[in-house]
Amino acid sequence: MSGVAEAFAEDGPLARALAGFRPREAQSGMARAVEQAIRDGRCLIAEAGTGTGKTFAYLVPALLSGKRVLVSTGTRNLQDQLFQKDVPLLRQALAAPVRTALLKGRSNYLCPYRLENVVDFGFRAGFSEHEADQLERIRRWAKTTRGGDIAEVDDVPEGSLLWRSVTSTAENCLGQDCGAYDDCHVVKARKAAQEAQITIINHHLLWADWAVKTDGFGELLPEADVIIVDEAHQFADTATQFLGVSLSTRQLGELADDTLIERAKDAPDMGGLADAATLLKNELAAMRAALGEASRRDAWHSVAGHEAVNTGLRRMEQSLLALAAQLKLASVRGKGLESCWKRCDEFIQRLEAFLAEDTEESVRWFETHRRGFSLSRTPLDIAGEFARFRKARQATWIFTSATLSVSGRFEHFSRQLGICDADCRRWESPFDYRRQSLLYLPAGLPEPGAPDYTRAVLRAAYPVLKASGGRAFLLFTSHQALTEAASILEGKTEFPLFVQGTQPKARLLEAFRASGNGLLLGTASFWEGVDVRGEALSCVVIDKLPFASPGDPVVSARLEAIRRRGHSPFAVFQLPAAVITLKQGAGRLIRDVDDRGVLVLADPRLTSKSYGRVFLDSLPPMRMTRESKAVRAFFADPQPAVSP
Ligand code: SF4
Repeated sequence: MSGVAEAFAEDGPLARALAGFRPREAQSGMARAVEQAIRDGRCLIAEAGTGTGKTFAYLVPALLSGKRVLVSTGTRNLQDQLFQKDVPLLRQALAAPVRTALLKGRSNYLCPYRLENVVDFGFRAGFSEHEADQLERIRRWAKTTRGGDIAEVDDVPEGSLLWRSVTSTAENCLGQDCGAYDDCHVVKARKAAQEAQITIINHHLLWADWAVKTDGFGELLPEADVIIVDEAHQFADTATQFLGVSLSTRQLGELADDTLIERAKDAPDMGGLADAATLLKNELAAMRAALGEASRRDAWHSVAGHEAVNTGLRRMEQSLLALAAQLKLASVRGKGLESCWKRCDEFIQRLEAFLAEDTEESVRWFETHRRGFSLSRTPLDIAGEFARFRKARQATWIFTSATLSVSGRFEHFSRQLGICDADCRRWESPFDYRRQSLLYLPAGLPEPGAPDYTRAVLRAAYPVLKASGGRAFLLFTSHQALTEAASILEGKTEFPLFVQGTQPKARLLEAFRASGNGLLLGTASFWEGVDVRGEALSCVVIDKLPFASPGDPVVSARLEAIRRRGHSPFAVFQLPAAVITLKQGAGRLIRDVDDRGVLVLADPRLTSKSYGRVFLDSLPPMRMTRESKAVRAFFADPQPAVSP
């Protein structure tokens, strides 16, 4: 018996050490497959249904392998859970004294150099007194922290703008030229990762590592024999944020601010430097105005011909060139100014790359929000990038998630990443969906494009919500539908409402759980990674099939590229991507062997269109009904689900 099989055996070390551990065939089956993939150096794509216990199924073979392993997660929540809970538990249970490390993106760590700058010179460069209190708290914490993880500071909100001033980016970090290098938390965290056998990272860091390597900068992540990607359904999407080039008002504004701080420190006599930095800020504001008041995300060609936009862009470029010239003169005064000069040069190159001719391989797009904007050129072919990434990394890749397959097949996932040499395996959830759940497809709803569609969904869902006594998630595919539903329900339902955006996500979930009969209304961020076990969540209502908006410039360009290659964008991309998202949303309902609940899928296309079958075939094996009385009977039945 292999070490892994032994670990999961009925009388094995996990059963002996972990209270409540029960051997599960799916879990040990997946663990053996991971063990074999690591041994053979073969890529594995592993879908494990909810409740399989997949984190143990890959952590145990990773811990016992003796190889260097990177485990990448889609969310910081899972990253923290693995490092703080699962890995220590298994290390102890297996008596495996393996060295492990947690590595987050650099924006999660305090930068002592920038903190000192802000404290000493920030106010002179225009920081408001209003932030003094928060800064003082950060300063006190900075004296005592060992890891420098900003999550340790719970009395300064995560979204505070101050964090940007006291954390670093790849562009503004001084690296080995930094006077605070020996105290640097990023450096220490990376060193710990270099010395660890198992390092827990996230997809952002993994793709950023590749983007940095492509740019030719220094090593970011340690070498690894094995890379395990959990929450792998998010992996290709995360790539979009890191590949290609982008430039934002945030980056450029920070460059101007840092220039003012470094000037105050090392070159107070250079008035031209301050003028150039201030001019850049003014031109950024003018360019923002030229892009129109409304917040939008659109293809660049939609504004590329506008006179005001072209003028704004030209003036922005000129102000960057002027700042670079001033910084070049000032660069001899100090390492900080020299670093600003290099950064300014890098931004000029990015702007040039953005302005270069359109190609069929990439899409140019822009996004505006209240105060700023970003310009991006994104490659359309993630598969090509990933092939180069794999070749450079030379590791065994293992991908896992509860939602990778569509109608039992993995083409969508593997095609996106260009993987054609993987073993694809599925392990069903151990939950008894036929007993524990019911899928309700209400009859008579209008087409999703109808003006009164959201009202009709609520009307159809209401008898279910009455029967479940609230305790429901209402998940929407757009903010517009969410807002409309909230305004329809406000003051007209006996159930307390918890609406996304009215308070932070964790607090909203806590209040929903505590209410015992609430309705939680949410969009994208509540479709996955949310775990409400037990009776607190007994019903999930989904308004529409979650097709990605073809109005999004990157999605639209990808669809066009698929069409150019002679394929159907709907069959190849839109349908499978929507199936994966629906599986995630539906997966919120049953989280444990004792959970019971009803899933309401309101979209009539599930039965009126031929592709509806693909969605239904991809869901867990639930009983299905079109009768609301069957739903009432389900909730009236006091018989609890039986543990398998
Ligand atoms: S090396 Fe970079 S991140 Fe570290 S303290 Fe210096 S500037 Fe900050």
